[in-house]
Amino acid sequence: SQAMLVQSQKIEAVGRVSSGLAHDFNNILGVIMGYASKPDAFERHEVALDSLEGIKLAAQRGAIAIRRILGLGRKQLSTPEAFDVRVAIADMQPLIQQIFGQRIALVADLSDQPLPVHLDRAEFELAMLNIIGNARDAMPHGGTFTLKAVPDSEHVDLQFADTGQGMSPEAREHLFEPFFTTKSAGLGSGLGLAAVKHFVDKARGSIRVESAENVGTTVHIRLPAGAGFHVPSPTHSVTGLRVLL
Ligand code: ADP
Repeated sequence: SQAMLVQSQKIEAVGRVSSGLAHDFNNILGVIMGYASKPDAFERHEVALDSLEGIKLAAQRGAIAIRRILGLGRKQLSTPEAFDVRVAIADMQPLIQQIFGQRIALVADLSDQPLPVHLDRAEFELAMLNIIGNARDAMPHGGTFTLKAVPDSEHVDLQFADTGQGMSPEAREHLFEPFFTTKSAGLGSGLGLAAVKHFVDKARGSIRVESAENVGTTVHIRLPAGAGFHVPSPTHSVTGLRVLL
């Protein structure tokens, strides 16, 4: 019957999420064990620091994977609040910089004006982290990540641009589908952009992705402006871009 079909699809989805997570964590633990099982190497200070850095990155991957899965749980209630997107971004700056490390430059063009939204802030941050994690994975040899946030009458427009490897036509077609990933086992679950799309839809916003192979990818997100702040009209606000981070 239809109900049984839906039930078996759900079970299959849970199985895929669990095995994706198991792969992720196996990989992460492998990396940590690899660094930790060469005690001789730790006699050299730089080697020890590199190893610790590697362990930290692996642990961060684990933390992001867990937050993604928690974000998927439907029982978790959204608690929308009024906040300024610029403030949320500024608060996340140390974490973003940590995720990018030394080789990726972070550039932020944030409006001079407040960017009010009414959203669940944890969900907003998780969506940003998913996009940022993808940008990091797309720039293994380094590059630049530019984050723009500007008001546009009734909206807040966000742009996340990387100078990474870009997407194949196939990836562009399927990127929002749950479990679509081009990453090797353990590095991708294919749930990141599906979760971002879910968040944007729930917020009654829109999302669009532009990507060119070997040039880079830009994710555009438009969110409804929240009440609670005065939203200036674009005529006297969009001009004042400045680099904050
Ligand atoms: P995952 O990161 O686990 O693979 P996502 O849903 O976040 O899952 O992304 C799906 C796929 O879309 C990725 O595997 C990758 O092929 C492509 N993709 C997403 N973001 C980018 C990006 N910034 N640059 C290049 N490819 C990307």
